[in-house]
Amino acid sequence: MSEHYDVVVVGGGIHGVGVAQAAACAGHSVLLLEQQALAAGTSSRSSKLIHGGLRYLEGRDFGLVRESLQERAILLNIAPELVRLQPFHIPVYPDTTRRPLTLCAGLSLYALLDGFGPGSRFRKLRPAEWDDLDGLDTHRLQALYQYHDAQTDDAALTRAVMHSAIRLGAGLACPAEFLGARLAEQRCEIQYRAHGAEKHCSAATLVNAGGPWAGDVAMRISPAMTTVPVELVQGTHLVLEGTLTRGCYYMEAPQDRRAIFLLPWRGHCMIGTTEHSYHGDPASVRPLDQEERYLLEVLHHYFPGRPDRVIARFAGLRVLPAADGTIFPRSRETRLTVDRQAQPRVVSIYGGKLTGYRATAQKVMRLLARSLPPRKPVAYTADVKLVAVD
Ligand SMILES: Cc1cc2nc3c(=O)[nH]c(=O)nc-3n(C[C@H](O)[C@H](O)[C@H](O)COP(=O)(O)OP(=O)(O)OC[C@H]3O[C@@H](n4cnc5c(N)ncnc54)[C@H](O)[C@@H]3O)c2cc1C
Repeated sequence: MSEHYDVVVVGGGIHGVGVAQAAACAGHSVLLLEQQALAAGTSSRSSKLIHGGLRYLEGRDFGLVRESLQERAILLNIAPELVRLQPFHIPVYPDTTRRPLTLCAGLSLYALLDGFGPGSRFRKLRPAEWDDLDGLDTHRLQALYQYHDAQTDDAALTRAVMHSAIRLGAGLACPAEFLGARLAEQRCEIQYRAHGAEKHCSAATLVNAGGPWAGDVAMRISPAMTTVPVELVQGTHLVLEGTLTRGCYYMEAPQDRRAIFLLPWRGHCMIGTTEHSYHGDPASVRPLDQEERYLLEVLHHYFPGRPDRVIARFAGLRVLPAADGTIFPRSRETRLTVDRQAQPRVVSIYGGKLTGYRATAQKVMRLLARSLPPRKPVAYTADVKLVAVD
């Protein structure tokens, strides 16, 4: 007889492990299927920021920024080994479009949405404090703002959340490829392949956390469900030789005014990111030469003397709502879809942010509540400490 679970999750990125942990906390039996390795997809190729997203204020995404700042505060508390506050520096030159007044207003609103918590401090640095800025060009510098956001290791965070889920009773099958599901009135019959063998299980509910593969996962479910039109957008980072001693830098790309980060990363530094529409197989995404040139131009513009030897490069895929026009201003809100409104058997997660994974998992569990058997909760994800497992 095949195993039966309350919840089966497809995808071992941050969203999938977050849902597995939330389900286990709520006392449910849960199995997560990951085809390759935990964090093998986008969740190891992000900018690795746990942030409210200062720039989303320009798009008036106040709800998203507020929720992300709340999540940042929770993660700083429950995962101090993995999530740390860092000083960020925003330089202003004569040609910077975000002027000091705008920056001050934005940083004040950011602090307000953070409830003036410990991470909301910001100030304008005095010229006497401009020495030793990791090679930042100070000749034409007019002003320099410092605020705080948090940095993590995205893959390590993903593994830590899965480790926590397993300690709470969740099962992990990895590598295990989800092959398909047939939805019956009260249950989902699931097929997957593990260790070369085809396996079966059933579940009351199924969560599609396939990230860039979410459309492909949805197509493997019958009867067919409505899917949301999305666009895959590739973003590249370069890891460069040499570390940063003063923290992180938030720059405006001279080419197109997009926000670019230079961040310390494992004894070196990392610059990103780019935005290019992507149409191929998600597994084949690679950094492009033109992306590398673009990022090095930004580096040379702001840090003319810094070493520019690229020691690693990686590209990840954002899942954004399909729309005409430029990608940069599009909302980063997570979209959740269900197979039917009254008693959903399947929830699909499209898009979203690393920062908001815990809040997203809570929303998924609320959507599934009507289809799940009552269980006694054993913990609450906002209180469960996360520890690095490698
Ligand atoms: C360039 C870039 C920078 C970003 N920077 C940030 C940032 O700084 N801060 C932030 O908060 N957010 C950031 N994000 C967003 C964030 O990284 C993503 O929202 C998040 O990692 C998505 O996680 P996920 O679990 O949905 O998808 P993924 O991490 O891609 O996981 C999906 C998983 O599903 C598995 N899978 C797919 N099909 C199957 C199948 N059939 N069977 C079994 N398993 C399957 C895949 O192998 C994969 O591991 C960034 C995104 C990008 C692209």
